[in-house]
Amino acid sequence: MKTLIVGGVAGGATAAARLRRLDEHAEIILFERGEYISFANCGLPYYIGGEITEKSALTLQTPKSFHARFNVDVRTFNEVISINKENKTVEVKNHQTGEIYTENYDKLVLSPGAVPVKPKIEGIDNEKVFTLRNIPDTYRIKDYIEINKPKKAVVVGGGYIGIEMAESLSNAGLDVTIVELMDHVIASIDYDMACDVHNHLRQKGVTLILKDGVKAVADSGNGLKVTLGTGDILCDMVILSVGVRPESELAKKAGLSLNPRGAIIVNEFMQTSDENIYAVGDAVEITDTVTGEKGIVPLAGPANKQGRIAADNISGIKSTYKGTQGSGILKCFDLTVACTGITEARAKQSGLEYEKSFTYSGSHASYYPGAVNMSVKIIFDKDNGKLLGAQVVGYDGADKRIDVLATAIHAGMTVYDLTELELAYAPPFSAAKDPVNMAGFVAENILTGKTKIFHWDEVGDLPRDGSVTLLDIRTKVEYDNGFIDGFINIPVDELRANLDKIDKSKRAYVVCQIGLRGHTACRILSQNGIDCYNLSGGYRLWNSIHRGVVPVAKDKAMNTETMQPINRIIIPVNACGLQCPGPIMKLAEAVKNAADGDTIEIQASDPAFGADVEAWSRRTGNTFEGMSTSKGITTAVLKKGGSKTCLPGPGGDNKNIIVFSGDLDKALASFIIANASAAMGRKVSMFFTFWGLNILRKPEKVKVRKNAIAKMFGFMMPRGAKKLGLSNMNMGGMGAFMIKKIMKDKNVQSLQEMIKTAMDSGVELIACTMSMDLMGLQLDELIDGVKPGGAAAMLANAEESDMSLFI
Ligand code: FAD
Repeated sequence: MKTLIVGGVAGGATAAARLRRLDEHAEIILFERGEYISFANCGLPYYIGGEITEKSALTLQTPKSFHARFNVDVRTFNEVISINKENKTVEVKNHQTGEIYTENYDKLVLSPGAVPVKPKIEGIDNEKVFTLRNIPDTYRIKDYIEINKPKKAVVVGGGYIGIEMAESLSNAGLDVTIVELMDHVIASIDYDMACDVHNHLRQKGVTLILKDGVKAVADSGNGLKVTLGTGDILCDMVILSVGVRPESELAKKAGLSLNPRGAIIVNEFMQTSDENIYAVGDAVEITDTVTGEKGIVPLAGPANKQGRIAADNISGIKSTYKGTQGSGILKCFDLTVACTGITEARAKQSGLEYEKSFTYSGSHASYYPGAVNMSVKIIFDKDNGKLLGAQVVGYDGADKRIDVLATAIHAGMTVYDLTELELAYAPPFSAAKDPVNMAGFVAENILTGKTKIFHWDEVGDLPRDGSVTLLDIRTKVEYDNGFIDGFINIPVDELRANLDKIDKSKRAYVVCQIGLRGHTACRILSQNGIDCYNLSGGYRLWNSIHRGVVPVAKDKAMNTETMQPINRIIIPVNACGLQCPGPIMKLAEAVKNAADGDTIEIQASDPAFGADVEAWSRRTGNTFEGMSTSKGITTAVLKKGGSKTCLPGPGGDNKNIIVFSGDLDKALASFIIANASAAMGRKVSMFFTFWGLNILRKPEKVKVRKNAIAKMFGFMMPRGAKKLGLSNMNMGGMGAFMIKKIMKDKNVQSLQEMIKTAMDSGVELIACTMSMDLMGLQLDELIDGVKPGGAAAMLANAEESDMSLFI
């Protein structure tokens, strides 16, 4: 059997090697038009960027080594220029000698790859406009950079190669602009997931121009003028990476069937319309395994597998290629961007009934150092939960999650299956509920109706006229750092206490940071009769789409006033692994303990932290000095104090309540006001004095040393909230009994429950030490958590408050 192979890289070299392994006696000739065979196309951008330093690392095999290993007749600089399928011969041109000769075959394998698309644009053939396909292209770009020392590059097209080149040129020291015609980079992920990539690119100093295309390129003498629809950019070089098209001229001339986009049509054995001619790789049409539709997916994995399958069939093994699901992965600076299966955009185009969900999970257990979050989007069948597509954008561990999801799609699994996958877990590697499990849990909750969701693109259309309830259930700190217009803040932990404030007849839309607490809130609300919807992906997703990162989040820690690098590090704080608001709370604690002027350097892995820290510093009167991110870890530097911009004005917005009365009704009123204020995020202090102290007494008798008068007082006064009487109509306790019964029937919290809610939400309970002394009460007799305090403490609170009540 004599087999000729056209193209000596991914598909061609694989076919040759497999063929030899299967048949030691076959005659195999490999034709390669260029100088190199079996080179690492995928590594080319990294050689330009300097990560790969050795030229030799790019060539995995030489013609000599390939021949030695596989006994294949490798003919580089030999281009197959025509095929005569009737005579089963090819015509070959030797570019070194100029000779044209004929070679006959029993079987022919075409693996000619794909050519970079060069749109018909004026000036596109300028020598400073580069495309990247092979090793000579790579050397051309590298040499140009080394010799001409360009400062600015424009990358046209934000696909895989465009992004990799943007990173490489940036690493090589160039100022890079990406121009992309679509509204987002990387067509194989959706816009909502690409927003994180946009933010990251900008954070790394890359200028991103979306929804614009290049109209012309002109040499202005000492540089290039790139004309876009919206204006001109001056630069020193252009990388054109707007996609590839199948290199199928040879096949077309031979009369083989092509699809409308010029890809060679093959069957599952990789046979073309001529049974003796096989075709593989970037040049062939594939079947999408998810939709069953035909398409083109120019990736190395499919090319290699198809080369192997063609060789099998030539050797008599009937293996089949079942299709391509489009698994891809990309390094974009620190970020990993990965996808498998179909995008939401594709699901829409194909008319599929799908649902989607967004989850954010740590790369490993949050308490083990170095955990970073990843965003996971899955697209699944609305009826049966079959997984259709997945996208993961993150740092550490994003690659393995996409591979699990790719395997799940290949196996035809559903989101229910994802909940059952038993994935290896130990703290340095994952969480007991792996990000893949989490994606499954959330999708299962959606499909089984346990949670109803709404999506980021529906937020803008929600009515703001009060006909629905818009609820942000994050903590006050998170809310203050940014919220969606129209959403009011009731933290999830205070939701049960505030149910009376939520109109049950209205639909409620809930937002939290990532969708997790929102699910809990929705469960509380829906089980209390409220039709409730949770924002999938939460504020985190909405914010990354609508606001992006704060502009200061550049890659260098700089003093924003002096623009000098920061080199003072005094107090390090490690908040990695903590979810929002954990890092901010840790920062607040560190700042509290620091002296004025101290510098604090905090590291956090929560992506929201970058957006929070600057606003937090401003609001709290501290000086934000800069921020950098690396591999998903944000490092922020701030100085305690020194900024007066947003310090609260005199009076502040705290609430100060002086509780003098020990009557049940007045105590209830005090705590209702306190809890409502706390729910609005206000700092509340309650100062209990005289009879008010009885509210705080423990119900049980506490053994403490007392004199006779104090003992008498103690005996006569009600012991705690349960024993209080009404100020009016008490009727020997009947009135109090009745009011408690009514409160219970109407689902109103008891006074004891209100006290607990208040303490849980940070309301400060201060027992007046002077009154305690007079009435013979000791701190041990009061409920836990009450602080002793004097009038000065009460007055200080009053000064920071815009309301003081005496009850
Ligand atoms: P190729 O590997 O391109 O090989 C085709 C060869 O055929 C060429 O060398 C060509 O000179 C030769 N040829 C063409 N016509 C003739 C002829 N008539 N006679 C003789 N020889 C001929 N894919 C991934 O999955 N992951 C990545 O990270 C990735 N990164 C990439 C980065 C770059 C810069 C590029 C260019 C591609 C990248 N790819 C990546 C795509 C991947 O390289 C291709 O999908 C894969 O190489 C396709 O294999 P192929 O055999 O079809 O074509």
